Amino acid sequence: MHSLQCVLQVQRSLRWGPMASVSWLSLRMCMAHSSLSSTTCPNPERQEDGARKDFSSRLATGPTLQYFLRSASAPQEKLSSEVEDPPPYLMMDELLGRQRKVYLETYGCQMNVNDTEIAWSILQKSGYLRTSNLQEADVILLVTCSIREKAEQTIWNRLHQLKALKTRRLRSRVPLRIGILGCMAERLKEEILNREKMVDVLAGPDAYRDLPRLLAVAESGQQAANVLLSLDETYADVMPVQTSPSATSAFVSIMRGCDNMCTYCIVPFTRGRERSRPVASILEEVRKLSEQGLKEVTLLGQNVNSFRDNSEVQFNSAVSTNLSRGFTTNCKTKQGGLRFAHLLDQVSRVDPEMRIRFTSPHPKDFPDEVLQLIHERDNICKQIHLPAQSGSSRVLEAMRRGYSREAYVALVHHIRESIPGVSLSSDFIAGFCGETEEDHVQTVSLLREVQYNMGFLFAYSMRQKTRAYHRLKDDVPEEVKLRRLEELITVFREEATKANQTAVGCTQLVLVEGLSKRSAADLCGRNDGNLKVIFPDAEMEDVSNPGLRVRAQPGDYVLVQITSAGSQTLKGHVLCRTTLKDSSAYC
Ligand code: SAM
Ligand code: SF4
Repeated sequence: MHSLQCVLQVQRSLRWGPMASVSWLSLRMCMAHSSLSSTTCPNPERQEDGARKDFSSRLATGPTLQYFLRSASAPQEKLSSEVEDPPPYLMMDELLGRQRKVYLETYGCQMNVNDTEIAWSILQKSGYLRTSNLQEADVILLVTCSIREKAEQTIWNRLHQLKALKTRRLRSRVPLRIGILGCMAERLKEEILNREKMVDVLAGPDAYRDLPRLLAVAESGQQAANVLLSLDETYADVMPVQTSPSATSAFVSIMRGCDNMCTYCIVPFTRGRERSRPVASILEEVRKLSEQGLKEVTLLGQNVNSFRDNSEVQFNSAVSTNLSRGFTTNCKTKQGGLRFAHLLDQVSRVDPEMRIRFTSPHPKDFPDEVLQLIHERDNICKQIHLPAQSGSSRVLEAMRRGYSREAYVALVHHIRESIPGVSLSSDFIAGFCGETEEDHVQTVSLLREVQYNMGFLFAYSMRQKTRAYHRLKDDVPEEVKLRRLEELITVFREEATKANQTAVGCTQLVLVEGLSKRSAADLCGRNDGNLKVIFPDAEMEDVSNPGLRVRAQPGDYVLVQITSAGSQTLKGHVLCRTTLKDSSAYC
């Protein structure tokens, strides 16, 4: 019989610097004791076995499962004051990776790509090695997404594939450990451990610092979890490790969580409350990336332009928040702190040759000072993601987005007046609760009216815990959702092709990423609007060294004359290698 126990440990610690007051909680389900003690091993393993028993008996003194479950929903501060010191369950050396190999697999959004780098940075410091070969991995970690049902189904399918690998490794000396990280761990919690006994570790988005400990618990053959959300975790002091050393661009997380509570969205429940990273630590990371030669950073957050750094007292005066005109907010109005315009200004000054992008913003937080800065600063890309979700004011109200179609369209016009040539993209959901054919037609007409350059279109997927789940009816049949989605995709493509064709004949600045996937004779890069640009790999003049003929390398800026355009890609021929500063004279 499996015994079931749990451990709650909550600690406030200065170990990670003054920024990070860390709370953590773990649930573990002790597996059959016999499976640990029955192995007959030569000396080192016997010692290891003794250590495991010792470890298991230390774990046995922890609080009960009920205690954990009761506490899991309590606010963090309360938990922190309830428990003084963590019991010494683990010795320092048990937290070390001892060169075990970790295979990380990322699903979902760019936040998850960045979270993977954060998790890896933490594990690397603990002595783990990274492998890109699944077969030689000692630990497999899946960084997961819960935004739609389909995203979760992909993970369940992947777990079934990994089952065979794990079963084979059960007989080997070094068992394989499997961990679920991120939003799905947070949303489903112990349901994953119960449903998939093969999962050893669960770590929610705010628990990556705890990974070495969770993996140490898993090493003793027990399941381990930490799904506690934090009010202040921003991983400010964790420098993410760039996964590709030849990369030209990097993501920099500037805030986490979301307070908006759009009725369809699971994010506030999986990623917790909105909190921003201190400006100083963001600037430090951007400076390091610039020193490494990276040419582009994308500032990341669930609501990146709601950024508000309240860490410095002198900026916490009661200055009210400027929203986009005609927009309201669902959450309590916040005041003071260093806002997104300040951060954007500072980040763009670090390296004039470094392009700055940001995603994903909320339309409500585009005050004039942000738009003006984007217009003025050469290295801030003239590209704005403006998630609309629907073109019907009635549906927008049901979604609790805080704006009407009219306010959204007025913002689009205002942005286009403030930033001539700006490239716009958006997110749309087809078939939200109560969406009628007339509402859908309104969304189609918004796509036609705005003519976005890029779009991300989804069929609505009802998520438990959300307001829509509790209050609304998922009443649009699946086939209708899919048909409407198809229609939105078709219209989006037609309009994006038209919008992108206005670039034909123009000369655009392109940051070279590398060879095109389709042809080794072509190079691929991105224009200022973040559209992919393909052009033949040819010799060209270098503007900084007249007379010198060069071939473009990843990380170079080149001028490309655009010759054709589709809904997702531009094609052209290269004119010369240049710099971001010099290029403004050409475009
Ligand atoms: N914070 C951004 C905003 O306010 O628009 C969006 C971030 S959200 C993680 C990314 C996109 O996923 C959303 O813009 C929305 O279009 C889509 N999405 C969120 N919940 C969804 C759901 N339940 N079903 C379908 N799509 C959803
Ligand atoms: Fe989700 Fe709305 Fe927050 Fe975006 S703003 S992450 S859609 S709750």
